[in-house]
Amino acid sequence: MTVTAEVRDIGEMSTTPGLVNAHHHLYSSLARGMPGPRMQPTSFPHMLELVWWRLDAAHTLDSIYWSAKLGALEAALAGTTCIIDHHESPRAIEGSLDAIRRACEEVGVRVRTCYGATDRWADDGSLHPKVSPLSGMTKGARLGLEECERHLRAGHDGMVGLHASFTCSDDTIGAASELAERFKVGVHVHVAEAIDDASAGARLQRHARKEWLLVHAVHLSESLAGTIVHNPRSNMNNAVGYAKPTTRPNDVVLGSDGIGSDMAEEARLAYVRLREFDPSSTPEVVDRWLTNARHLFPAALLDRVTWRSPRADDPWFAAFTTAMRVERVEVDGRTIVDRGTTLLVDETEVRRKSAEAARRLHQRMENV
Ligand SMILES: [Zn+2]
Repeated sequence: MTVTAEVRDIGEMSTTPGLVNAHHHLYSSLARGMPGPRMQPTSFPHMLELVWWRLDAAHTLDSIYWSAKLGALEAALAGTTCIIDHHESPRAIEGSLDAIRRACEEVGVRVRTCYGATDRWADDGSLHPKVSPLSGMTKGARLGLEECERHLRAGHDGMVGLHASFTCSDDTIGAASELAERFKVGVHVHVAEAIDDASAGARLQRHARKEWLLVHAVHLSESLAGTIVHNPRSNMNNAVGYAKPTTRPNDVVLGSDGIGSDMAEEARLAYVRLREFDPSSTPEVVDRWLTNARHLFPAALLDRVTWRSPRADDPWFAAFTTAMRVERVEVDGRTIVDRGTTLLVDETEVRRKSAEAARRLHQRMENV
């Protein structure tokens, strides 16, 4: 029997720096296939209550780790080497950011995470979907801010997180803002994602700084300091409206809001949604959003993605090339993906173990 060498001609390739997902929820990677809501949600906050706040409440440190590991793996495979994560797990707060950091390090992607503090869980454990601005800081919010502080104090890449102003008291918003100032980082917060959070701008205005990440800004009527993270797929999925990012004076970057980390795909979607709004716009606009994200997370410029495509670095080519596939990913000179699969972790094993963790998580959700 003659053994012939593998002949592999995958055509002309091209390279780009690493991509950045500027707003991710690594805790939602195991959400696919989760139990559906017990009733039809009637509003955006109602949907959060019936779906996402059940998921985050069912998380343990183990499921957070596997969710982050699957999310990191899928990011790596898509050429997204930098993830800005926003985390919540109200029944497993302490140690959660370490679990996320460890999972990402093992896969080889970079992560900047934070815990999204919120007052929506009262001290007796009951859920309060709408929080009065004048109510005091809850124990849950205090623990969330402490988790951010612990992470930052240890010297890890992080931010200070707030869920959204409609689930936070003024006390908690003020404390998050002070903590961020102390560590010279920004606050990562959902802002006016749906009409129900339209007061966000007024409440955040005196605190917001240029380092802040303002996520969504669909129904924002004030001008706030910070970078706007546009999440077109998530906004369309939640039917919250179009954010019209080109009408804002702020720098704009792209996020997935937890729906994977394929930022080339997110950019293509952002482009066609932008064209629907303004047919005179060009792919360079969306390409600028990808570049802005690399300024936000400059380490992405040290990373290299090799695409099985001849002109991945050309915005006009990338905007219309669906399923542009990644051949190799190098993070700071170390190869983490080669021939379309991960090198530092076994892709099959991560997928199998995270599927097992997902089954256990979904079972726990039934009791939340
Ligand atoms: Zn989000």
